This record gives sequence, C-alpha cells and structure tokens, in this order.
Amino acid sequence: MSAYKSAEQYRMIAGRLTLPSHAFIDGDWTAAASGEVFENVDPATGARLGTVAACDGVDVDRAVKAARRVFEAGDWSRAAPEQRKAVLLKLADLVRANAEELAVLESLDSGKTIKDCLNEISHEVPTFFQWYGELADKAFGKVAPTAEKVVAMIVKEPIGVVGLVLPWNFPLLMAAWKLAPALAVGCSAVLKPAEQTPLSALRLAELAMEAGLPPGVLNVVPGFGETAGQAIGRHNDIDAVSFTGSTEVGAYFLNYASESNLKPVGLEMGGKSPMIVLDDADIDDTLVSSAINAAFWNGGQNCSANMRQIVDRKVKDAFLDRVLEKTRALVVGDPLDPATDLGSMVSAEHKERVLSYIEIGKAEGAQTLAGGGASEGLAGAFVDPTVFDNVDPQMRIAREEIFGPVLGVIPVDGVDEALAIARDTDYGLHATIFTRDIDKAFHLAKRLPCGTVAINGFSEGNVTTPFGGYKRSGSMARDNGTEAIDQYLQTKTIWLSLK
Ligand code: NAP
Ligand code: MG
Repeated sequence: MSAYKSAEQYRMIAGRLTLPSHAFIDGDWTAAASGEVFENVDPATGARLGTVAACDGVDVDRAVKAARRVFEAGDWSRAAPEQRKAVLLKLADLVRANAEELAVLESLDSGKTIKDCLNEISHEVPTFFQWYGELADKAFGKVAPTAEKVVAMIVKEPIGVVGLVLPWNFPLLMAAWKLAPALAVGCSAVLKPAEQTPLSALRLAELAMEAGLPPGVLNVVPGFGETAGQAIGRHNDIDAVSFTGSTEVGAYFLNYASESNLKPVGLEMGGKSPMIVLDDADIDDTLVSSAINAAFWNGGQNCSANMRQIVDRKVKDAFLDRVLEKTRALVVGDPLDPATDLGSMVSAEHKERVLSYIEIGKAEGAQTLAGGGASEGLAGAFVDPTVFDNVDPQMRIAREEIFGPVLGVIPVDGVDEALAIARDTDYGLHATIFTRDIDKAFHLAKRLPCGTVAINGFSEGNVTTPFGGYKRSGSMARDNGTEAIDQYLQTKTIWLSLK
C-alpha cells in the first residue's frame, strides 16, 4: 500500500484549509498597519489563493518591540534550558501531528511536489526542532586557565533579537533551519518569509504558541524584500540577521548592517556547484539517481543543485544513456499528485527566467538532449527537465545560477582538468565526486573550495552537519550542526579576582 494519499484526497484537504492572511506579531494575528495586502497565487494553476498582509517598516518595528520586550523580560531568554527544550520538543510533535496539512499548504503555495513537502515537513522540520531542543540543556561554558587567585569564566549568551529572512525554495525547512537554533539558545525572532511562500511559516507561528512559546518570541512579518526585508536589515534594535537567498540580496544585507548598527549578518546564498564523474566511476543506480537529484530535485530550485556535471569522456556516453533514460521517465505535473516528480516553478516570473537561460544555452551552442522548454499541455509555471551536452565552462549557463531543472554536461579528460573546471566559479557551496579511487576522492575533496563535498552519493548532509558556502555562496556563518548556534550567541568573559 502506498504511503501517500491520492491527489484527490490531497485536494480535499486543501479545500478544508484555512489559509493564513495576517501577520503574526506579539502572539496575535494582525493586519499590516498600512492595511496593505498582496495577492498570493498557486503557481501550478495560476489560481489566487488569497491575500496576505504586506508588512513594512512600521510592522517590523512593532515586531521588534515585542521581541525586545520579551527578551528583556527573560520569559524565554532566561528560562531554564530544560523549559526551552520542552517547548521545542512539543513544537516538533505538533509539526508531526499537522504535517499533512502543512505539506498541502506548502505545496499549494510554492508548486513543490506533495512528496517533497511531506518528506521535509513530517521528517526534517520536526527533527530540527527536536535536535536543537535536545541541545538546549547540554551546552556548557568554559573556565580559562588562570593563576590561582582568578576564576575566568567564558559564557555564551543569546545575542538578542534576530532577523531571519527566508527564500521560497524550502519555505518551512529554511524557517526550521534558522528558528530552531535561535530559539534553543533563547533569542527572540522576527522572521520574514519570501513573498511567494508566506503561508507555512505563519501556520508554524501558531503552532509555536500552542507549544508554549511566550508571545513576542516569534513574530512573522510577511511582505516584500524592499520594504519588510530592508526594514529588518536596517533596524537598529535587531542584534543579528540570518539570511538565505540570492548573492545579490545577501550583499544588500551587508550594506544595511554597515549603515545601521553593524549587526552581524549570516549569509547563505547562491551556488553553481559541480558534480565530478571520473573515468573509474561505476555508472550505477546510485550515481544516476544522484545526478538526477542533484540537478532536478525541487525542480532545480536548490542552492546546492549540481548543475555543472563534469564527466570524463571515457564514461560520458554510458553516463548520458542512463541519465537521459531517467530524465525522460520523470513525471512533471500536478504538485498534489504523489506520482509527480517535478512540480511547477515557484512563479510565472521565475519560469520565464529559467526558460530564458535555456534559450541562452541553446544560443551559446550547448546541445539539447532532453527537455528544452516549457512543459506542453500544462497551464501553470512548468518547465521540462532539460539536459545539455557539450557545455563549455565559459558559457553563461555554466557560470550563472539558473535555479531551474537544467543539467549541463561538461566533458573532460582526467582528474586535473575536472578539478580546474570545478574550481573555476565565483561560488563555493557544494560539490559531488564519483570515483572508486579513495585517494583521488580525497585529493579532490580537499582542493574544492566549497562548504560541503559529497563522495559517491549526492547529499547536503543533515541536521548534524554544518551547511554554508565559501566565496560568494556564504559568509563565515553556518546553518545546521552545533555550528549554527554560533550565529545566535554572544561570548562573554566573567573575570573574578579572589582574595
Ligand atoms: P532573493 O531575492 O534573494 O530573496 C530572498 C529573501 O530576501 C526574500 O525573503 C526576499 O523578499 C528578500 N529580499 C529581496 N530583496 C530584498 C531587499 N532589497 N532587501 C531585503 N530583503 C530582500 O531571492 P529570490 O527572489 O527568492 O530568488 C532569486 C534568486 O536567488 C534565485 O533565482 C536563486 O538564484 C537565489 N536563491 C537562492 C536560494 C538559496 O537557498 N541559496 C534560495 C532562493 C533563491 P521577497 O520575498 O520580497 O523577494
Ligand atoms: Mg504562493
């Protein structure tokens, strides 16, 4: 029996959902002070889902004041760690209990497949709240080595009010990546979801209250980047920002910080990640599934997508045979149908952007072996999974982030050429290596300037492993792992002189 319901059943769940339409500030639903709203659309059908409060600087300021008040009062920031743990564990349970509805909500809002939404929301999202909740009462400070008449303690404190600015590609998962560690250490948060996908984060705020989070600790301010996002970046009473999105907007946040209170800014940004297939690699199911997932998972709307597949000429034909067979079998269509592999792009505008890159690839001389355009017969923002061969490393499609279902094969001769091409990018988020030779694998892993290297299987790691980028893919900050909490902590020395 399938673990999934039918598309019809998911549509019935969709029909019963109450879609959030307000901001969530200080424990309550509220309209934007201006009364402004924006339209929210299901990109798979073009249908209007409803309107959502369009918050601006006034609403961000209201949210920051609430977050500051509760932070100073200490209801959460100075609560016993086991109390914070209990609330986060309860939140994990509530997400699990509501996973199906949350997944349908997210799928409608973003065009993501129900399969992916269910996987992220019933497993990964609660794991984050649970894992960081469990960490809350297991973090110890340090005592420095000093002379006998001194005790010097090195303690960590929550940094204060944090601004969390999110992308649209993994809406609830990105909220969990940032919120779970921030809340675990005692921070208060002002969270801005992407304008395309505000719904699941708003519903999460409600569940967090039900779990026992004090009002004001988590505020969700839907709205546009130029208004709500910029107001977070420039706010003088926000102590730190954690951002995931494009490199261009990440750079704005550094400016906002330099022009306001010099708040630290954690950045997770774009990528143009390589997958290297050496001549000794087994072209087996694991490799082929990895190549497909690395390029097409989430419709390629993934910052760590391995779009540049650098394949040794000795195995290129075997690789392409298998990859094309699997690409042609991918089902593009109704995101609420569990048989669907690729849902729609997040918006009609984004679809056009992806299609324009596909046209650029053709004009640059890359050879189209599969896909190459919009999906026929589907009215929404659908793009066919596209495979290009003979991609030259200097082509725009090999240098710029497409963020769509495009796999580009760059043929090479040998390890040295593969490494040189893999390294030749402004980004540094991720890389995958396929080889049976462990020495070659480590040689490459150590020389690739990026935050995550996966060997013999495409993976971004999991909650236990830090995630972030070198070069223009990130700042020094990392999400996930114990490293993530550093974004939300200050370090204090307490120096005690004894008689
Ligand atoms: P984006 O523009 O960087 O948006 C990310 C977040 O920043 C959103 O919440 C956005 O608000 C906000 N924002 C936008 N402009 C802002 C500004 N001037 N000041 C403050 N905040 C601002 O990314 P996107 O539009 O979602 O996607 C564009 C490209 O970013 C993609 O094609 C892809 O290349 C990259 N991207 C990367 C990731 C990743 O995980 N690394 C995720 C998504 C996108 P709005 O909702 O109003 O835009
Ligand atoms: Mg939407």
